[in-house]
Amino acid sequence: MYKVDHFINGKSSSESNKTSKIYNPSYGTEIGEVLCATNEVADKAVESAYEASKAWSKTGLIYRSELILKFRQNVINRSKEIIDLGISEAGKTRPDAEAELDRAVQALTHIAGVQHFYPSHYSQNVAGGIDIADLRFPIGVVVGVGPFNFPILIPLLHSAMALVTGNTYIGKPSEKVPSVSRLYADIWKESGLPDGCYNVVNGDKETVEFLVRHEKVDGLAFIGSTAAAKSLKMLGVEHNTKVQALGGAKNHMIVLPDADLDMSADAAVSASFGAAGQRCMAVSVVVAVGDIADELLDKIKERMPNLIMGVTDDDKTQLGPVISPENKDRIYSFINSAEPDGATLVVDGRIRSNSLEGCFVGPTLIDNVKPGMAVYENEIFGPVLSFVRAKTYDEAMKITNSNNFGNGAALFTRDGGVAKKWSDEIQAGSVGINVPIPLPTYAHSFGGWKDSAFSETKGFGPSAIEFYTKTKSLSTRWPDPADSKVDLGFPRNDN
Ligand code: NAD
Repeated sequence: MYKVDHFINGKSSSESNKTSKIYNPSYGTEIGEVLCATNEVADKAVESAYEASKAWSKTGLIYRSELILKFRQNVINRSKEIIDLGISEAGKTRPDAEAELDRAVQALTHIAGVQHFYPSHYSQNVAGGIDIADLRFPIGVVVGVGPFNFPILIPLLHSAMALVTGNTYIGKPSEKVPSVSRLYADIWKESGLPDGCYNVVNGDKETVEFLVRHEKVDGLAFIGSTAAAKSLKMLGVEHNTKVQALGGAKNHMIVLPDADLDMSADAAVSASFGAAGQRCMAVSVVVAVGDIADELLDKIKERMPNLIMGVTDDDKTQLGPVISPENKDRIYSFINSAEPDGATLVVDGRIRSNSLEGCFVGPTLIDNVKPGMAVYENEIFGPVLSFVRAKTYDEAMKITNSNNFGNGAALFTRDGGVAKKWSDEIQAGSVGINVPIPLPTYAHSFGGWKDSAFSETKGFGPSAIEFYTKTKSLSTRWPDPADSKVDLGFPRNDN
């Protein structure tokens, strides 16, 4: 049993009046506890970040980039610890935790190159000898709040982007998986980051809301469920805190009649059951177009018994547990609703998972799913694949684009013309043609449409810089004093 504390102004802090239990989802057993911050503790973290920002915001871009590179190397040096925490706290399989760390290191490589995407506009001689420059500044104190499913990548993406752009940072990791964020605090310190620049405050919804309301907090980078993302965006507007909030998903994979069905079935199984369906880019709905539906369904079904389900400290495991007993119960309740709602339970995963001790849900396949059913309308966030039948491309698109979520979508086809039309028409933020999980690399934009994001900016790509910075436009003129006169008219741009 271990205890995860806070990290404020370069030191560990154990102040709290309540704790939250940490479980190993593979076994359903308690392995530790995390302290939950009181408002006084959260306030100390804000004061520390606010004070540190006075000097940190004035450091040079290259200095900050090089510090990111030192941190990156130290993260690589601590890979084993980080991966082991992903396996024990988040119930990740080893390959999944390793791949998440790889992505995180790639994010740091990109972020260290900030000078390539930092420049802002400059216009010379726009009127009457006036030059205008957009000057970029850090926004100040940024809070980063993450979900349980990417404890390695998301806290690092938020904190490194905030720090490299001259902000100071307070992380509030998911209370289910707090240890990696806390470990990063030690690694930042050992990399030479000044005290107060990276803080960790553990807690729950109340802590997050306290931070967003705080007058010295300037930004919230949030990734989590849609309900929380939406309410935090609204709270941010009320308190003039800049909020980038990425939410939940229901990603559709449309398979056209000309697609290679074996390849499509492999992709559907990999993208819906990988990470036990707990990825925001997981495929949770397959839409089969035309008369391929029966054959595609059979091909998906025949692949499912081969998935090795088990505890994630066994390296043979491909399909691990879901995060908690509550999430397991919630997923079971969706499976329970399928047949009463008129769908067909083709593979009932509960048959595999009922006898297991940990938080397991066996891979589940539900046919004849239609809009309006609970399994279709809600994000299940577990290894449950809904199979929808559409007669035509137009019907498949009408269904997909009518769904409230728009995080990602995929199309499987060999027809380039239809693929082009689809990529123009699909209403989602990250879309893939024969790519089932189209999570882009960091130089490209990432963030959903519709109810999958409440944000004017994207999570990565050039647009991310707009969240972590603010600009002021500077107008400069060097006139001849001999031409100076009083003129009460509104400035005109005549010459
Ligand atoms: P969650 O919303 O329950 O929790 C996320 C974080 O927000 C946690 O740190 C939690 O303590 C805090 N929180 C929860 N409710 C809150 C509220 N009402 N107000 C303020 N803070 C709150 O999400 P989760 O269950 O940890 O993660 C799964 C969700 O995250 C899924 O919906 C998934 O799609 C989404 N997700 C989205 C992306 C993306 O890029 N769009 C990436 C990963 C996960």
